[in-house]
Amino acid sequence: MLENKNQSRTSLSELGEFGLIDHLTEHFKITKETTIKGVGDDAAILKFPDEQVVVTTDLLIEGVHFDLSYMPLKHLGYKAVMVNLSDVYAMNANASQITVSIAVSNRFPLEALEDLYAGIQAACVNYKVDLVGGDTTSSQVGLVISVTAIGHCVADDIVKRSGAQVNDLLVVTGDVGAAYMGLQVLEREKEVFKVNPKNQPDLEQYSYIVERQLKPEARKDIKPLLKELGVKATAMIDVSDGLSSEILHLCKQSNVGCNLYEDKIPLDPQVISVCEEFKLDSTTIALSGGEDYELLFTIAQADFPKIKANPNFSIIGHMTEEKEGMHLITRGNTKIPLIARGWNAMSDNE
Ligand SMILES: [Mg+2]
Repeated sequence: MLENKNQSRTSLSELGEFGLIDHLTEHFKITKETTIKGVGDDAAILKFPDEQVVVTTDLLIEGVHFDLSYMPLKHLGYKAVMVNLSDVYAMNANASQITVSIAVSNRFPLEALEDLYAGIQAACVNYKVDLVGGDTTSSQVGLVISVTAIGHCVADDIVKRSGAQVNDLLVVTGDVGAAYMGLQVLEREKEVFKVNPKNQPDLEQYSYIVERQLKPEARKDIKPLLKELGVKATAMIDVSDGLSSEILHLCKQSNVGCNLYEDKIPLDPQVISVCEEFKLDSTTIALSGGEDYELLFTIAQADFPKIKANPNFSIIGHMTEEKEGMHLITRGNTKIPLIARGWNAMSDNE
């Protein structure tokens, strides 16, 4: 629908499995000192002197996690890497290597996989990570992508979900809710397109939220920024499933409660206007939407002056005694319990 269909079609069977991997990865360059050996042996060799290693993996399945009718393959490749790098950054670690495995049906020509790997390569270049391995295999139905990301960090700098203390401030980077509203716009345009394929969508006025859905960026910049400001987060998580479920994870693993203030939640003006257009409550979208890939963390109150004027951060609440529970304080000053509603639960309700 929204992609420029690549005209030439080369069948995957023309290359064979090994030829395919070689072809898809031939333009990837190894740039990290920690990569001793990348693709080309039975396993990659990595070396992290005096640091701890973090490893995270994600599986993305066509029809469950992405829809190729509006997700260009290049963007999908980029996003698949971002989803994983975001988890590395959420440990306050540096991302350094990825592996990518795909299962693909023969309805995909070689040119489609070249687009996918162009996106993966763009992510590797922009975020300075090496592709050091992976596998390709055939699939009976759609496309499956699994990315594993590897990162490293000196032990003292690692930030877990479990370190939040009572009275710590709750902080989120950037803004939330945009990726979910971008998805709503793309789903609506897909339905319009089904009825009238000649109708090309005009997404100009939705550019920010559509980009947040199709081309998210992981917050590589936050670790050095916090370091520069002299702030150490006490607990951290990335916002992949929606603000409320991430807050609940932090609270449960840190044995604290939380008050979240509705009027402090950072929303882009486009999210507010598109929520009005769709007759959706913007706070609900921020709490339950997901796929923002922002970082959510807690800091000691003493660090408040160091971050209060920084446009990258919004202080959205504070941690309380565990027995006080987890609450949203609304604009009308009503206290309501926070519940975990990731986007899965949300789509069940539609
Ligand atoms: Mg995560």
